[in-house]
Amino acid sequence: MDKDLKNNSYNELLDIAIAHQQKPFCAKYLFTFIHQKDAADINDITPLSKTFRNQLTEEGFTISRITLSERHDDPDGTIKFVFDLPGGVRIESVRLKDDDRNTLCISTQAGCRMGCKFCATGRLAFQRNLTTSEIVEQVYQAERVCGRIDNLVYMGMGEPLDNFDNVMRSVETLNDKNGRNLGIRHITISTCGLPEQIKQLALSSIQPRLAVSLHAPNDEIRSKLMRVGKTYRLDDILTSLKSYQSTTGKRITIEYCMIDGVNDQIDHARSLVKLLRPLKVNVNLIELNTFPGCRYRPSSPEQIRQFAEILSNSGIETIIRFKRGRSIKAACGQLGATWLK
Ligand code: SF4
Repeated sequence: MDKDLKNNSYNELLDIAIAHQQKPFCAKYLFTFIHQKDAADINDITPLSKTFRNQLTEEGFTISRITLSERHDDPDGTIKFVFDLPGGVRIESVRLKDDDRNTLCISTQAGCRMGCKFCATGRLAFQRNLTTSEIVEQVYQAERVCGRIDNLVYMGMGEPLDNFDNVMRSVETLNDKNGRNLGIRHITISTCGLPEQIKQLALSSIQPRLAVSLHAPNDEIRSKLMRVGKTYRLDDILTSLKSYQSTTGKRITIEYCMIDGVNDQIDHARSLVKLLRPLKVNVNLIELNTFPGCRYRPSSPEQIRQFAEILSNSGIETIIRFKRGRSIKAACGQLGATWLK
């Protein structure tokens, strides 16, 4: 039983209510007030009896919040939020605006263990997993500034599937109709490809969209670019994706960062087509965003166009992702860049 009520799912709040001899509907009040009405204090949940509220407070139950410490605005409408968490930990989230729709890219860990060499977060020391509350709070805080978040991508700092339980609890919480009621088709989890957790995700009762960062057409290049590439071979990742797809029937997004002279050649595109042929996927090609100390350079627009053409001509739906938020170091791979020494 987690004493931070915001870390508990609806069913866990139900257990807390029952353990305190309360009726089941009290769990609904707890959940709705915390996740829909932004209650900051147990005493704000006025439909609960005073006795129950006092009991929870005396037993050390709380409702946590994270602190928004900085906001950075890019002329293209992108906003980067910096949050301070307990223990001197800092994380970042990014709001992207498309017409009147808000997409929020959130973090799941402070630092990251995966060691991708083209990513600023991968250069930071891993500090810890974020709690469920710290994950959902990024959404609640962003909504206070920008209004309703329409799409949510778990693509910020950290590897979401390396913090599986808290991430899945946060998805369940945000999707709950008694909370934010964010449609599951508007939630995407992005992973660098942890085969066991992908299989676990396939069996989950809740099914967000899945994006996989492949970034290379073979193990040799991948393990140079990503430390995790030495642990998980492409064969294992693709097997887990086939199994995921046969269980869920869902299309998968493949993320591929275009790095000059490293993974952007014509034969790389052809090898990628062979790898992806057995799967139902769409591919996002992302021009590398650099940061201080990054040894790689972005592919030229012409190289990206040619690469995209090979994929598209082979029947793979491919889009080239626009650069967003670069001036405030909020683009893909740049989170945490301002903290690099
Ligand atoms: S790209 Fe993702 S998985 Fe790789 S180091 Fe950065 S945050 Fe971690």
